[in-house]
Amino acid sequence: MKNIIDFNCPKCGSENIRKFSLIYRDGLSDLAGRNFHGTSQTVNSQIASPPFSPSQFLRRCCFFIIPLLFLGHIGRSPIFLTVGIVLGVICAIACRIYASTIYRDSLQIWNNTYLCQRCDSAFILGHDAPQDDW
Ligand SMILES: [Zn+2]
Repeated sequence: MKNIIDFNCPKCGSENIRKFSLIYRDGLSDLAGRNFHGTSQTVNSQIASPPFSPSQFLRRCCFFIIPLLFLGHIGRSPIFLTVGIVLGVICAIACRIYASTIYRDSLQIWNNTYLCQRCDSAFILGHDAPQDDW
């Protein structure tokens, strides 16, 4: 039977391992004060963060494109409008390609990545070689 998955660290053999997604989630905490609201995150949680999502990618693109469209509209400049529209189309296509290739594969790897609590090495469950220490 080759399909049995070994839930031990491939480097030291310890059974004390934690999934990256749990480390990430457990390291987040909401902060709410009188004048602020936010999230704090432990260092381990930052390291175990999921891959950059397509929606984050698209939001960052919009950060640059929307001002161009606004300037084009206010200044009645066809150059800003054209550049903004072309960049928007390019970003949408790039986001679609990223979501269906790199992000999908990275998310699958992240979902199978564990951290050994004894020797601090990260590894992908089912792979023999541990990842680089973090
Ligand atoms: Zn280990």
